[in-house]
Amino acid sequence: MALRLVLEECTITTRHPFVIARGSTTGYRRCWVRLIDEDGLEGWGEADPSSYYGETYDTVIATLQKLDRHMPEDPFDLEAAEARFAQVVPRNGAAARAALSAALHDLVGKRLGQPLWRLWGLDPHKAPASSFTIGIDTPEQMELKVREAAEYPILKIKLGTDRDEEILRTIRAITDKTLRVDANAGWTVERALRMAPLLKEYGVEFLEQPLPPEDLEGLAQVRRAANAHDLPVVVDESCIVASDIPRLARAADGVNIKLAKCGSLREALRMIATARAHGMLVMVGCMIESSLGITPAAHFTPLVDAADLDGAALIVDDPFTGATIAGGQIRLPTGPGLGVRRR
Ligand code: MG
Repeated sequence: MALRLVLEECTITTRHPFVIARGSTTGYRRCWVRLIDEDGLEGWGEADPSSYYGETYDTVIATLQKLDRHMPEDPFDLEAAEARFAQVVPRNGAAARAALSAALHDLVGKRLGQPLWRLWGLDPHKAPASSFTIGIDTPEQMELKVREAAEYPILKIKLGTDRDEEILRTIRAITDKTLRVDANAGWTVERALRMAPLLKEYGVEFLEQPLPPEDLEGLAQVRRAANAHDLPVVVDESCIVASDIPRLARAADGVNIKLAKCGSLREALRMIATARAHGMLVMVGCMIESSLGITPAAHFTPLVDAADLDGAALIVDDPFTGATIAGGQIRLPTGPGLGVRRR
């Protein structure tokens, strides 16, 4: 008997309107996915669609209904199940596929009575600290957000505006924490080249996605200039799946992996291996997600250099508990599977 798929809507709300170079909002509809086996054991996942990649709550539901006919009988059949999902929805289905991937892995872990990180042979103490993201805002609001992020040792600053210098100056004036910068594809080559020495001056640790995703020639140019200032360049929007990485290795120093982009936990592990084979840095990021969305990615953080898994920390009504962030440090749950519970 195939696994039974149950879908439930949940809404999560951010503390502040979350503004990046592309837009702003506070309320997010999320789909809670449950896969139920014949013994009544449940694997859980969450679909966190990103409009940037052409996905919405409604496309997620449509995709999941389409995939419902392709559920495996055996949750351990992970490779074949994920390959089939990707075959049925090759485009714009990553959020739905990621939720099913998480739910299958959760169910496998629960059947075996082991947390996912343990099935992967990872040391939970190797999980890195997570950065906390400061979205684009007025100087007063950004100061408030920096104060709210008191427990986080690393701040990720969203840039890509016409007042980036002012934003950096404002934040650097009130904190000496490690800063990372994400331009979310909002700069031109000229702008990025002008910003590079300034980022160095403000002690920025690395620069994420300065240019539009397809401009790899420009990216290589920006990377050379940034590297001259000891500033690595990481790609996010340019890098969706493992097969993107070889061509990116000539233009960037690292990749940002997100389950809502790559659509599968197994693909995330392939991305880590591919990036390492090219000598690249690996970071893991997230969308605005509840703890159910964040925790599957948290389980492979012992393999990465940098994490930006603050999605659940940015919301005020998390329906779940799972991986937590204490003093900025990611703590992996010890319960079986994902180790996520309903609050
Ligand atoms: Mg990013």
